[in-house]
Amino acid sequence: MATTTTTTTTLPPTPTTLPEVPAADPAAPAPGQVPLAGSSGAAVVARGGADLLEELGGDVLVRAHEGLVFPVSGRRGDFFEVLTPCNDSRLVAASEVAFTPAVPLSPVGEGFDFANAVIVLDPGHGGPNFGATGPSGQREKDVNLDIARRVRDILSTSHTINWATGEILDGTAIAAAGQVWVTRTEGPEGADIESGLTFRTSLANSLNAHALISIHNNAAPDGPYEGPGSEVYHQYLDDESKRLAGLLVEEMRRGFGPFDADWVGALDAGAKFRVRENGDEVYGILRRSEVPAVIAEGVYISNPSEDALLGTPEFRQAYADAVYRALVRFITTNDPGSGFTEPPPYTATPSSGGPRDTCRVPAQPEG
Ligand SMILES: [Zn+2]
Repeated sequence: MATTTTTTTTLPPTPTTLPEVPAADPAAPAPGQVPLAGSSGAAVVARGGADLLEELGGDVLVRAHEGLVFPVSGRRGDFFEVLTPCNDSRLVAASEVAFTPAVPLSPVGEGFDFANAVIVLDPGHGGPNFGATGPSGQREKDVNLDIARRVRDILSTSHTINWATGEILDGTAIAAAGQVWVTRTEGPEGADIESGLTFRTSLANSLNAHALISIHNNAAPDGPYEGPGSEVYHQYLDDESKRLAGLLVEEMRRGFGPFDADWVGALDAGAKFRVRENGDEVYGILRRSEVPAVIAEGVYISNPSEDALLGTPEFRQAYADAVYRALVRFITTNDPGSGFTEPPPYTATPSSGGPRDTCRVPAQPEG
């Protein structure tokens, strides 16, 4: 039981900037909430950790680290059916997690209250999956995580936006987002943990999130580019994913343009899709997501000039601000976005991004 170990366990650092998602705060769990059978949602491991089982009555495979979040697909007795970051299906006792049920499916757009928005932020890569490495040695996984945390922090309070300049100000015109989830959770290993693509998308699917944004930076441009060569991939046949991508491209160009760099890019930079000749989505995040999802490739970490920008807090904040403005416009307006391009069929094979055989769920330290 979680309560027997709380006196000997150190809590993970809980930033004061965490959004108001009570169930996602391991310091204040509400364990044992009993949802209806078949409910989906997300479960956060309560203080002291939680045992993961392969089957009812089976052996404990690991005592999962407090603060970890798992998508929930259903219930079996007093247990939730969850998916681990290693993409394994497991059971966890309802008494050892805090459960947040999915919101009802609802379309976003003009008139939607941002206070009801459910947003999943996905910092690309993590753990042994570094993503691209810049000429400075800076790793994409670390930059992506820092930017995602900045987005989370902006979303956690209300703001006013000067839409003429893009400046994000203190104010109350836009409420704090209702729920903000990050696929690499705070707590274990500084959130530098391995996570499968099925896990990342299942979290968004299980919550009926309004948007899933996977945050990345790019490599392998075609050559020099006039201004930032930002790319945002959307789901091929999903109009809302496409709209979100177009809005993100607009806000990235607005936010990154004032920075000085020897920009590089691809000839088809902008909001685009990537499909094979048979029409299949190339990227697992976009293929597996049942909610509007995009992959943001802000700038080229492979380019020394843009790698240097990504090393600065000012640029990382500009990236986060662009994501925030795009989310506000996506969820509270019908703006269509722009910058759409028609890429040719894709024939290369990207790395799977899947968890390795060595993937392990971070364990709760012995008390
Ligand atoms: Zn990446």
